[in-house]
Amino acid sequence: MLSEAELIRRYFMSAPRRADVVLGIGDDGAIVHPTAGHDIVVSVDTLIEGVHFPADTPPGAVGHKALAVNLSDLAAMGAEPAWATLSLTMPGVDENWLTAFSAGLFGLAERYRVELIGGDLTRGPLSITLQVMGTLPRGESLRRDGARAGDLIFVTGTIGDAGLGLAVVRKIRALKAASRQWCLSRLNTPAPRVAEGRQLLSIASAAIDVSDGLATDLDRILTASGVGATVELSSIPLSAAARDVYAGQVDWPAVLTAGDDYELLFTVPPARASELTTQFAGADCDTSRIGVVEPAAGLRYTLGGAAWTLAVPAGYDHFAGR
Ligand code: ADP
Ligand code: MG
Repeated sequence: MLSEAELIRRYFMSAPRRADVVLGIGDDGAIVHPTAGHDIVVSVDTLIEGVHFPADTPPGAVGHKALAVNLSDLAAMGAEPAWATLSLTMPGVDENWLTAFSAGLFGLAERYRVELIGGDLTRGPLSITLQVMGTLPRGESLRRDGARAGDLIFVTGTIGDAGLGLAVVRKIRALKAASRQWCLSRLNTPAPRVAEGRQLLSIASAAIDVSDGLATDLDRILTASGVGATVELSSIPLSAAARDVYAGQVDWPAVLTAGDDYELLFTVPPARASELTTQFAGADCDTSRIGVVEPAAGLRYTLGGAAWTLAVPAGYDHFAGR
């Protein structure tokens, strides 16, 4: 059996990647040295098998997703990712699992120049807690509380794909091969909108990442900002795969409550909307305008201009009703 120290060395130590890491893995604590004039943004998320990912999720996807969901939080703050720590609890030492998990994790870490600077290793039911830290130019940030009446509401990419992927995994839906592959990749290996978040720093009035469903996450912005909104359902961007699945009969409650998309949902003052178009001209993903912020509290929907009501609970809440 490998020792704890040997496991860390084998699976979690990489060559130093960042000049701002003074001391990485190996001591009682890590030391970082942020660039002068910057603030540090910190975010942490836990992934538990059976709750946040199905038990048969490929380990590479688990490693990718543990970092991706955290990078998505940094993206929604407009931050530049820098450092991460990992607290891993696992039932035993499975070297195949560890190899794939760390490949998934480090693959994404390299893409965003994130250095793993410490962590912890314990035995127990599989659970992954990953913390990321990033930087922001002092005084700048993208927060939830800045939306104002008249601002336009936008979302990046497409909405509801990960929810369809989960329906495939749970055998609730059977999709054609190409759609199935797209929705599963959106569920298992989401692409955090880091570059887009940093660009939005100077444009958006408020932002959040869509992790618990569009309805719930938009409501968080509206509540924090003390405003309301109307969203036009037909403006919500759907992927070709989703359009194919729904064949003209879109399940809007499913689209509005599906979690795990990790797109950015944000508001923009009308005077800055043209900057958005210019800035995002060459971006990886499209941005779609889905609604408008209004003075009256509450989230309202229209479908083709006619009032529409969401009759189901808005999104996932770990503690609601328990
Ligand atoms: P301590 O007992 O002081 O907490 P550990 O033996 O748990 O130290 O960890 C030794 C070093 O390895 C520390 O620098 C710690 O941050 C790092 N480390 C432990 N587990 C992990 C992990 N899963 N990923 C990355 N670094 C880790
Ligand atoms: Mg420890």
